[in-house]
Amino acid sequence: MSVLESADPAVWESICLEQRRQTDGLELIASENYTSAAVMEAAGTVLTNKYAEGYPGRRYYGGCEHVDAIEDLARRRACSLFDAEHANVQPHAGSQANMAVYLTVLQPGDTILALDLAHGGHLTHGMHLNFSGRLYRAVHYGVRPDDHRIDFDQVAALAREHRPRLIVAGASAYPREIDHAKFADIARDNDALLMVDMAHYAGLVAAGIHNSPVPVADFVTSTSHKTLRGPRSGFVLCRQDRARDLDRTVFPGMQGGPLMHIVAAKAVCFAEAAQPAFREYARQIVENARMLADVLQSGGLQLASGGTDNHLMLCDVTSIGLTGRIAETALDQAGITVNKNMIPFDQRKPLDPSGIRIGTAALTTRGMKADEMKRVGSWILDALQHADDTDHLQRLRQDIADFARCYPVPGIDPVPSQAGQD
Ligand code: PLP
Repeated sequence: MSVLESADPAVWESICLEQRRQTDGLELIASENYTSAAVMEAAGTVLTNKYAEGYPGRRYYGGCEHVDAIEDLARRRACSLFDAEHANVQPHAGSQANMAVYLTVLQPGDTILALDLAHGGHLTHGMHLNFSGRLYRAVHYGVRPDDHRIDFDQVAALAREHRPRLIVAGASAYPREIDHAKFADIARDNDALLMVDMAHYAGLVAAGIHNSPVPVADFVTSTSHKTLRGPRSGFVLCRQDRARDLDRTVFPGMQGGPLMHIVAAKAVCFAEAAQPAFREYARQIVENARMLADVLQSGGLQLASGGTDNHLMLCDVTSIGLTGRIAETALDQAGITVNKNMIPFDQRKPLDPSGIRIGTAALTTRGMKADEMKRVGSWILDALQHADDTDHLQRLRQDIADFARCYPVPGIDPVPSQAGQD
């Protein structure tokens, strides 16, 4: 990045510092990952210069022959990876993927039935300040109080009562495998459509570890940057009979030119996720999450639903006398990045909830396995037990940096010494 360094030293320096943060810390945010060098290269190419409104073979701009080939590849690879009939790879992000489906099948004022944000849902699942909650009438189901699993009796009862046009499955903070077929049965019984937002666990679906929503859902939406390990973006899958309406919603309905450099990076990511090595990676994510969950539970943390089946866990830190905000800050000081999170039936507020959310996708990309998770878990417990001891947290930070640097981050060269010092 020598050009950027001289052209814009301020931006360059912040990038170097972020690079240092990513190599020296333990990244446990459940929605983050490290892309491959190939994905990053594709995202940093001349394709960023190209306008390509429309779809391959039907563009509103000249000079699209090469980006046509790229978008075709991305669509075909997405379909093959997930065994889907049609893919739209143009949504800029996961929120736009969800918006594309809503605008395709809903009218303003229609009812959607989705998981409550406070029980693990996403903003785009009908939160009142989000476009989804402002345009549509959102009704929310939750998890059961005793085991924190999705309350399918409630889903069915709410579907019968409110007759939603669309049922939304999928979550941002749900540590268990989701039974898509059960959602499909409820949708069918109530003449509703089913959209599954698999943003968090798409990588596990690609690897065949989580059951696939594709055979049973009318639409499947996803981000490409979480467990799927691609660039920061989104996509939608559906059957052929819905393809034309979906495509017209994305363009010209809600977006102009697609980000062709990101479409290329998605094509690379779909090909990577089809490799046997990715299946092994996804299996390891889950094994690591289980090990980390065991260590944290043995240390006195209560986990929502008592554990995890996927890449994430929700820890109730009030069980050791902290709050989510205090825990997040203490861990940050020690070089461990997580996010504070509501736990089901939380009595506290979103800005200082009872929990933290922890995921293993990023550390697994760095090659960490179960033994490393034992170490990471004991550091987390240590940092939480010393949440008010800044000196202790600083010492931990040094140990963690020494450890973390042994696990390479794909595509990141050593940080130049003149920037990014601790
Ligand atoms: N859907 C779910 C389940 C998510 O967890 C997220 C992001 O965290 C999104 C959609 C939105 O993705 P983006 O941040 O790319 O808009």
